[in-house]
Amino acid sequence: SQDSSLREEVGARLRDIPDFPKPGIRFKDMTPVLADPRLLSRVVDAMAAPFQGQRISRVVGVEARGFLLGAPIALKLHAGLVPARKPGKLPWRTRTERYSLEYGEDALQVHEDAVGPGDRVLIVDDLLATGGTADAAARLVTQLGGEVVGFSFLISLDFLPGRERLGRDKVCALLSY
Ligand code: AMP
Repeated sequence: SQDSSLREEVGARLRDIPDFPKPGIRFKDMTPVLADPRLLSRVVDAMAAPFQGQRISRVVGVEARGFLLGAPIALKLHAGLVPARKPGKLPWRTRTERYSLEYGEDALQVHEDAVGPGDRVLIVDDLLATGGTADAAARLVTQLGGEVVGFSFLISLDFLPGRERLGRDKVCALLSY
């Protein structure tokens, strides 16, 4: 099918970097996909497709690679774009959700007026691992009165519990490992 050939092409272009940014992490580098305009266009179409017709009003892109995929997906879905950023980056009033990492913790912020009651929200990032990051983005949406309709990832690492944590039926990923 169209999708399986797309999956093969994307899979062949992703670059695996062992022990980046630290020992034991196998980093999936998507920059070769970004650099190919025809492939990127098909990836954006495929990541938006499951959410066409679902009346998505906002797309939350998670810093930083989620910005790159979130912006064209928001345009496709005729939805507004919301950046979810690391603390201290957004200039106006913010809401914060913390999440735990393997060592220590981190947090995401959005502007208080970025999402509101009645908003139907899609959360976008490049890769789903433990789900801690995307779950924090979802809590921000819920805290502001929005509804999380789903999550769209380029890659899901299915040997980790991210998909279960976010809810199987809400998670879409072009590629699974
Ligand atoms: P998690 O919160 O554990 O689901 O981790 C997901 C976040 O960390 C996303 O923003 C990813 O971009 C990044 N990430 C985690 N693991 C990898 C990996 N192996 N390759 C690239 N990015 C990763």
